[in-house]
Parts: sequence; C-alpha cells; structure tokens
Amino acid sequence: MERIPAMHKVLADKRVAAYEARLGRDVVKRAADEVFGRARASGDGAFDTIVVELTMRLERLQRDMLLRVINATGIILHTNLGRAPLAGEALAAVAELSRGYSNLEYDLEAGQRGSRYARVAGILNEVTGAEDSLVVNNCAAAVLLILDTFAKGREVIVARSQLVEIGGGFRIPEVLERSGATLVEVGTTNRVYLEDFERALSPRTALLLTTHPSNYRIDGFTHDAAASELAQLGQRAGVPVIEDLGSGALVDLARYGAPHERTVQEALSDGIGLVTFSGDKLLGGPQAGIVAGRSHLVARLRGNPMLRALRVDKMTLAALGGTLQIYRSGALAERLPIFRMIGATLGELRARAQNYLDAIPQAQLVESDAFVGGGALARERIASLAVALPEQDAETVAARLRKNVPPIVARIAERRVLLDLRTIAPEEDDLVIDACRNFPT
Ligand SMILES: *Cc1c(COP(=O)(O)O)cnc(C)c1O
Repeated sequence: MERIPAMHKVLADKRVAAYEARLGRDVVKRAADEVFGRARASGDGAFDTIVVELTMRLERLQRDMLLRVINATGIILHTNLGRAPLAGEALAAVAELSRGYSNLEYDLEAGQRGSRYARVAGILNEVTGAEDSLVVNNCAAAVLLILDTFAKGREVIVARSQLVEIGGGFRIPEVLERSGATLVEVGTTNRVYLEDFERALSPRTALLLTTHPSNYRIDGFTHDAAASELAQLGQRAGVPVIEDLGSGALVDLARYGAPHERTVQEALSDGIGLVTFSGDKLLGGPQAGIVAGRSHLVARLRGNPMLRALRVDKMTLAALGGTLQIYRSGALAERLPIFRMIGATLGELRARAQNYLDAIPQAQLVESDAFVGGGALARERIASLAVALPEQDAETVAARLRKNVPPIVARIAERRVLLDLRTIAPEEDDLVIDACRNFPT
C-alpha cells in the first residue's frame, strides 16, 4: 500500500489550488477529506490519483453553480444563456442598492411606507409614453396577472393563428384555461379579420388578446386584423385590448442595423389598452415583465392581491432602473450590451477576427448569420462573421470549449465549430483565443 500523501501538499498542488479562489477553502477541504477517506479505504493513495480525483470532484461542485459563460453562438438573446447581458450602469445600481438598505418601499419625504412600483413606473412611462405601467417577475406573469384580473369566469377572444406556445410550456390556451377564462377562438390558422372578432363579442367578453408571433411565422395566404382596428373595436365595445408583445423593443432597431421590430410605443399609439413585454429581451435589462398602457387598466392590476405573489425584488428594480436611465440618455449603442452587439459593423468584427486568425493555426474567417433571438425577429438574420476552427471532430472541439474556464458555447455548422464574433464581447476575445490556442491540432 502506498503511503497517503500529506493533505497540505495536495491542497497546495496547482491543479487543486485553482479551485480554492472560486469555491472557498472549506469546500475544497471537505472534498479533500472525502477523497482521502476513500484513498485510505481502498489503499490507493498515489499523489496523482488523489489530485485527479479531487479536481474532478471540485469541478463537479463548481458546475453545479451558475457560471459565467462566453456566448459564441451568434444568438444575442439566448434564453438558455441568460438572455440580455446587463449594462455597467444596471450592475452598478444593483451593487449600490443591494449592498445596504434602500428606499424600496419608503417615502423619504413623508417618512412612511411608500410604493415599490411608483419610481420605476415614472421612468417607464417617460420612456414608453404610456399613461401608467407596472413591473412583475416576467412577461408570462404579466399575462397571467391580466387574465386573472379581467377574465376570470369570462371570455377572451384570440385569433387561431396566435394560439401560441411561447416556450417553457407557456401555452396561451392553457394559461387562459388555468386563469379561469374561456377561450373564444376566431378566424382560421392563417387568416383572421376584424369581423371575426366583432362577431365573437358577447356580454361575457372580458378581453381581446393579441400575441406577438415571436417564435414562428405563417407565410403565404394570410391575413391579420390590424392592431389599430382591434383597438377601435375594443373601444366601441368597451372591451380592453391586450397585446402580448414579448420582446419589448423601445426603439426602432432599424436605427441600429437590425430589421425593424414592432415597438411598445407603436402598440400604444395603435390604441392598445395594455402591452406586455419582457425586461430581458430587446429592452436589454433584467428578467422582468412589464405592463404598460391605460391608467385605469393598470390601476385594476395594482388592486389585484395576486400582484403580491408576482412582485419583483430590489435587485430587479435597481437593474431595470439603471437600464432605463440609458434610454433616457439615448446612448444605447455605446452603453447597452445588446445594442453594442446588434450595432457592431462587419468592419469592427473583421478587425477583431484578425487577432484570432493570427493566434490560432488554420482558423478561417467565414460569413455567419447572427440572430437577435429571444423570440424577437426569429428568422431575420443579422450578417455577421465567425472564426471557423480547424476541421476536426466538431462535437469534441465544442465539448472541450464548454469545459473551458469560463465555458465557451459555440455553434456547429457543416461539421465545423464556429465562434460568432457578434456575441463575444471584445473584452472576451483574449480568453477565447487562449482557449483555442491551447488545443492540440
Ligand atoms: C418571450 C415571450 C413571453 C415570455 O416572456 P418571459 O419574460 O420570458 O416570461 C411572452 N410572450 C411573448 C410573445 C414572448 O415573446
């Protein structure tokens, strides 16, 4: 039987010590205790065996936590990778307001309890032009709150072409049913007219609901009822019209080189009563669901006791506030990461790519399609550039990149691993180059 090495020697080994900064000494020691216990029991106490077993165990522990990842997929709002990266201003606001106490629900002037929602509503109204607005946990929660407030035991009219599943199992028909509303489908899969909605109106109608077809498109022989016509119909009938916009663009993306996406302001100026959208899609902020629209409708939502269960925490409000400040300043392209990515020119990407090509033998520059993602502009490509790694087993290469610290998530196309430069932050270039340079070729 080999002599078991001293624990302090194992802990001092470079391979093990690297984990101490991330996991803490106590966690590393506990893992080491277990590995030493097994080594004593099995009699295999070789230094390297212990180190390898310990690092494997620590690696697993580390992977159980949320990790920062480098997104080389070219999909800007990648739901699996956390959607929008936050702006420096948003992060600073989170740090500042979460480290200590804040006036989250405190009116400093009156010296008494204040509203959690008033301040963020103020800036949201200013940026969107809405009469009033409200923030909840995510857009799905916003839709749920609206249905629960207005449609319990009543009818909601929805076009058949919009009976969507958003993803994560959130299906409009099922959510309607769960909130105690009755779905009234109108039109056909491909065509719906204003008259279809009109004919379906009844004294039981609570809402007209339209949903952004975020993740699919029906092409060909199609017809939709215009939002402005629906809004007028709702007005005449005294029925609120809701638009679940999803991605929530607050500016015209065409100004930043992407295809135009319907904005919150457009929906509001079409006369939609309540617009719902996410905070972490095209707004570029934290996960949140925002309802913006007519004040008498938002007031009804505020009065729903269910709001308490959907309420956002201070970190979300801080990040959202910090993000919306950037909209006030107008400096989106400089300060909001997603707009930096959307707006990067091919010239800028090409200049960065040169560093990759210089460092990685046999890497090539190829044209690539980036996407906004997150349900927005599902099929509209943004011309991009990618570094194609030398041809070898692409799955193996991609798996190695995912094991990097930090992990790099790449795309595979035509059996090659592509690193799309549009979603890699320029500050991350050196990390990615280092990871690829160290590959055996
Ligand atoms: C993404 C999306 C949602 C869900 O938003 P979450 O903030 O993820 O809850 C709802 N509706 C539409 C149309 C969407 O695109």
